[in-house]
Amino acid sequence: MEKIVSLCKRRGFIFQASEIYGGLNGVWDYGPLGTELKNNLKQYWWKVIVRDRDDVVGLDGSILTHPAALKASGHVDTFTDPMVDCRTCKARLRADQLAEKNGTKQCPNCGGKDLTEARPFNLMFQTQMGASADPASIAYLRPETAQSIFVQFKNVLDVSRKKLPFGIAQIGKAFRNEINPRNFTFRSREFEQMELEYFCRPEQGMDLLAYWLKERIRFYEEIGINRKRLHILDVPDKDRAFYSKGTFDIEYEFPFGRQELEGVAYRTDHDLQQHIKSSGKTLDYFDEETKERFVPHVVEPSAGVDRTVLALICDAYDEDSAPDEKGKMETRIVMRFHPRMAPMKCAVFPLLKNKEALVAKAREVQALLRSHMNVFYDEGGAIGRRYRRQDEIGTPFGVTIDFETLGEKGEELRDTVTLRDRDSMKQERVAIKDLVETISSKIR
Ligand code: ATP
Repeated sequence: MEKIVSLCKRRGFIFQASEIYGGLNGVWDYGPLGTELKNNLKQYWWKVIVRDRDDVVGLDGSILTHPAALKASGHVDTFTDPMVDCRTCKARLRADQLAEKNGTKQCPNCGGKDLTEARPFNLMFQTQMGASADPASIAYLRPETAQSIFVQFKNVLDVSRKKLPFGIAQIGKAFRNEINPRNFTFRSREFEQMELEYFCRPEQGMDLLAYWLKERIRFYEEIGINRKRLHILDVPDKDRAFYSKGTFDIEYEFPFGRQELEGVAYRTDHDLQQHIKSSGKTLDYFDEETKERFVPHVVEPSAGVDRTVLALICDAYDEDSAPDEKGKMETRIVMRFHPRMAPMKCAVFPLLKNKEALVAKAREVQALLRSHMNVFYDEGGAIGRRYRRQDEIGTPFGVTIDFETLGEKGEELRDTVTLRDRDSMKQERVAIKDLVETISSKIR
């Protein structure tokens, strides 16, 4: 894991937030490449969940949330983790993450056994709205994106005129004051979620749960996550929320253990019923054909953006060997991102930077590719070293403009370039006019 964390910083995927001030615990900033990777992930999720379907629409809800909404959802009263204090080193710990030796619970930091009883700690960030600091001005940063979907259910239904089953999707920030943020970005205090609430008739719930679990596994395969490192946990009755009739956790084998990436849950009509009770408004559905009026049930696939980015990075990290300039084999770090997810799709290199004609042609090729994909231009250093820099950030294709391109080694090679594949390191000759299609077909 240290190698991955260090690469993330060195190449600009992820930085500690407020680093120059000593860092802010559990909060992270994405650098230039991390931002591209994260955007590719979010855009692909939005494409398959919303754009490619007739039955799902989007929502972009606010982060600041009315306390009544989170009281209704149960977050104000029960969104807690059990916390204990270590009286020896004063650490605050999650009771379910304590170390255990010979049947005795211990502090994982100092080994101390003098621990307080566990007490509930609410994970929500509370803030004050407006100038007066009275209890009526309390608002919360949302702990999940889902609640604004339930609260806006009626408005979205009215404007979209969808028939059941249909879904409302949202990507956005969520905040949880985790007692122990850890494992790099895995457990953060500020993170992003990609959530779908898929509303249905009660009798469709269990089938749709199975359907969405399959769809979501397919998604992870399509973004290049190794299926062998994905696991499905059928959450047993005792661990499920009381209102859920079925929940699956999709887990990934991180270097620090098997951990949840996404929860897919059949939540019955619990959420809408809670908001109906608390707001006094009708949040139901009228079926034109059967003339029935009822509160829909819901299946929720809820994924973490940051956890999936971390899984993409862990899954892509690889080391193999490649020859250096003198032909000696050296270790190569290569991020084997699926081309669809890779932050940079193609790098363009003029063979030599002091040959004006090569540089001009390379800039021309960069301009040609730029409107179709994210392109990186690099003219510094030996070509092998430039390839290696791209391998380390997972750029799947490299295009080199050489003297053949200029027609100096025969007319038949004029306006062709070398296209290098990151994984096989094989090179082929491709006409500039075919480059866009050759690369685009592999990154869609
Ligand atoms: P965990 O048990 O790991 O705390 P959870 O079951 O509380 O997670 P959910 O409430 O189901 O998580 O949230 C849905 C998804 O949101 C999770 O599967 C995860 O991907 C993401 N998520 C939740 N909490 C965090 C966090 N602290 N940091 C990063 N992502 C998170």
